[in-house]
Amino acid sequence: MPVEATGPYDDNNIFARILRGEIPSKRVHEDEWSLAFHDINPQAPIHVLVIPKGKWRSWADFSAHASDAEIAGFIRAVGLVARQLGLETPGYRLLANAGLDAHQEVPHLHVHVFGGRPLGAMLAPIS
Ligand code: AMP
Repeated sequence: MPVEATGPYDDNNIFARILRGEIPSKRVHEDEWSLAFHDINPQAPIHVLVIPKGKWRSWADFSAHASDAEIAGFIRAVGLVARQLGLETPGYRLLANAGLDAHQEVPHLHVHVFGGRPLGAMLAPIS
C-alpha cells in the first residue's frame, strides 16, 4: 500500500523498528546519521537501503525541516555506502520514492542503492 509523503511520523513503521533493533536487518553501514541494510526483496544483484536515523517520513519533510548536519551526514552516508559496496567504478542508481505516485511503501525516508549489473535506461518514455 503506498503512503503519502507528508503527515505525522509513524513510530511503528518497519524501518523505525529496524532502527530500534526490534526487527533484524543485514546491515552494511551505520554511523551517527544513518543506517544502511540490504533490501529484503532485492531488485538488482546489489540493492541496499540507506535511511536517516531521524524521524523523517520522506524526502519532502527531510529536505524542508532536517538540520544541515543531518542532511549532510545522510547524503555523505549514501555516497560512502555506494563506495564501500564497490559500485563507484561500474556505476549505480539511487532512488527515493516519495508519496503515492511514486509508490512509497515505508513511511521513513530511504534511498535505494541499486547496482551489480547494467541497469538499463531509467524510465520508459511516456508515449
Ligand atoms: P519503497 O517502495 O521505496 O517504500 O520501498 C520500500 C522497500 O523496503 C522495498 O524495496 C522493500 O522490499 C523494502 N523492505 C520492506 N521491509 C523490509 C525489511 N524488513 N528489511 C529490508 N527491506 C525491507
